[in-house]
Amino acid sequence: MQFLGLIWSRKFVPAAILGVAALSIVLVWVSYAVETANDRKRALGAAEIRLEGVAQALAEQVERTLSGLNIASLYLRHAWRHNHDQFGTVVDALRPAAAPAAELNVMVNDADGWMEFSTYPEPSAPVNFSERQHFLIQKNSSDDQLFVSQPVLGKLSNRLMIPNSRKLLDAQGRFAGIVVVAIPADSLFSLEPHLNLGARGAATLIGMDRVVRAAAANTPGTAPEPGTATSPDRPYFQAPDGVFQAVGSVDKADRLFAFRRLKEFPLVMVVSDTVADIEATTLPHRRELAVFALSVSTAVAVFALMLAHFVHTLSARNRALDAKSEELSQSNAELEQFAYVASHDLREPLRMISSFLTLLEKKIGAGLDQDGRDYLNFARDGAVRMDRLVLDLLEYSRIGRGRRPNAVVDLGAAMDEVRANLAAAISESGGKVEVLGRLPTVAGNAHELTRLLQNLVSNGLKYHTPGQAPHVSVSAARDGEYWMLSVADNGIGIAPEHHERVFGIFQRLHSRDRYEGTGIGLAVCKKVVERHGGRIEVLSGEGQGAVFRFTLPA
Ligand code: ADP
Repeated sequence: MQFLGLIWSRKFVPAAILGVAALSIVLVWVSYAVETANDRKRALGAAEIRLEGVAQALAEQVERTLSGLNIASLYLRHAWRHNHDQFGTVVDALRPAAAPAAELNVMVNDADGWMEFSTYPEPSAPVNFSERQHFLIQKNSSDDQLFVSQPVLGKLSNRLMIPNSRKLLDAQGRFAGIVVVAIPADSLFSLEPHLNLGARGAATLIGMDRVVRAAAANTPGTAPEPGTATSPDRPYFQAPDGVFQAVGSVDKADRLFAFRRLKEFPLVMVVSDTVADIEATTLPHRRELAVFALSVSTAVAVFALMLAHFVHTLSARNRALDAKSEELSQSNAELEQFAYVASHDLREPLRMISSFLTLLEKKIGAGLDQDGRDYLNFARDGAVRMDRLVLDLLEYSRIGRGRRPNAVVDLGAAMDEVRANLAAAISESGGKVEVLGRLPTVAGNAHELTRLLQNLVSNGLKYHTPGQAPHVSVSAARDGEYWMLSVADNGIGIAPEHHERVFGIFQRLHSRDRYEGTGIGLAVCKKVVERHGGRIEVLSGEGQGAVFRFTLPA
C-alpha cells in the first residue's frame, strides 16, 4: 500500500495515463497498417481471378478465329487441287464464312514462291514471296500444320497482316507451294469493355518464338508492338497458365499478369493491369479507415491529456493539502503540549496560594471581622475554582496524548464505572440513571470513553429542571458501520441557537451561581468522539430535556 502511495504521489499516474494512451494510439495505427495491407492483398487476389478470366476469354477468342482459318486452309488446299478452275468462286464464297469479323485475304504461291492467286487486285508485275518466313517454314518443315506467322506489312495490302499458311502438296505428296489465309493483326482479338481489364490494362498474343503477334490496350503505349520480341525469361514460356507480378516492358509500371496458352497453336495470351490501379480500388476503404484511426487517436490523446492534467492537478492539490494538514497537526500538538505544561505548572502556585490563605486564616482568622473573613473565603474559593479550571484544562489537553484508541472497550462496563463515580451526585439529586438495552463493545481508549459518558450523564443530572428529579437514560443502536449512542435527560434543555456553541471550550450558558461548572465538559466529549472517528450532536429545545447523540465506528 505504501508503495502504491509512493508511485501515486510521484508523477507516475499522469505518465502512466499518457503511456497507455500512446500505446493505444500505436495499436490503432498498427491495426490500420495491418488492415490496409490485407485490403491490398484482397484487391490483388480479386484482380488475379479477374485477369485469369480475361486471359482465358481472349485465348478462346483467338483459338476460335484461328481454328476457322485452319479449316479454311484445308478446304482451300483441297479446292486448289481438285477444283482449280472454280477456285476464285470457292474463295469468294468462303471469305465471309471463314472470318466473319475480319478482312480475310487468300493467296496461293507456287513451289518457288511466285504468287499464283490473290484476292488483292492483280499486280502489274509478278510478285515473289520465297523469302517470307512462313514460306520458308512450310517449304522446309515436314509438319502439315497451319502456321501463324509473325505480323508482316502486307506487300499488296500495306497493312500489318498475320499470314496463316498451309503447304500445298502435289499428287506425289511433294511440296507444291502454299496457301495463305491472312487477316489483319488487329482483328485476331479485341478488348471488349465487358472484359473489364482496367484503364491501363493490356492484352498481348505472343508466339512461343517470343514474337508478339497482336496486342490491344485500353491506353495507348502500354502494350508491346506486334512484331517485337519479348524477354525470354517470362513465366509464360515455362507454364501453360499462371499469374505473376513484374514490371511492364513498355510502360515500366508494376503490373499483375495472367497468361494462358492456346491449345491448338504455339501461342500464349498474356493480359495485365497495373498494381497501382488495382490497389487504387481499395483507396475509399483505406481513406475511411484512416479517418477512423485518426479520430480515435485524437479522441484518445485529448482524453488522456485532460485526464493526466486533471490527475496532476489533483495530486498537486493533495500534496498541498497533506502539507497543510501536517502543519496543522504539528501546531495542534505544540499547542496541546503548551497547554499541558502551562496548566501543570499553574497548579503549583495555586496550591501555595490556597495553603497560605489557610495559614493566614488560622493565624489571624479569629481577629478578623465578618468582611475580612468573607474576603479570605472569596480568595480561597477563587483559588479552588482556578485549580478546578486548570485541572479540566489539563484533562482536555491530555486527550489524544496517549496510545491510539484501539483497545476493546465494553461500554456497558464503562457505564457501571460512571454510575459508581456519580453515585453521590445521583443520590443527592434523587435522580435516576438507567441503561436501556445492552451497550456495545467498541475499539477505543477506555479512560476517554468512560470520561465521555460520565460528562454527558453528569450534565444530565446537573441541568435538571428545578423541583423535578433528573432522569438520565443511555441507549445504543446500530447505524450502518457505526454505533449510535444516546444520552437523554428530562432537564432544562438547550435552545437550538446554542447547539453548536455548547461544544466549544469554556462555553457556558448559565452563570456560576445557578449551575457550577467550567465549560470544558462538552469540549472534552467532542474531542474524544472525534478522536475515535465519530461525530457528536445535541437534539434539544429549551425546557424539553436534551438528547446527546454520538457515533463510534462499530
Ligand atoms: P459545564 O457543565 O462545566 O458548564 P459543559 O461543557 O459540560 O460545561 O457544558 C457547556 C454548557 O452546555 C453548560 O454550561 C450548559 O449550559 C449546557 N449543557 C450541557 N449539558 C446540558 C444538559 N444536559 N442540559 C442542558 N444544558 C446543558
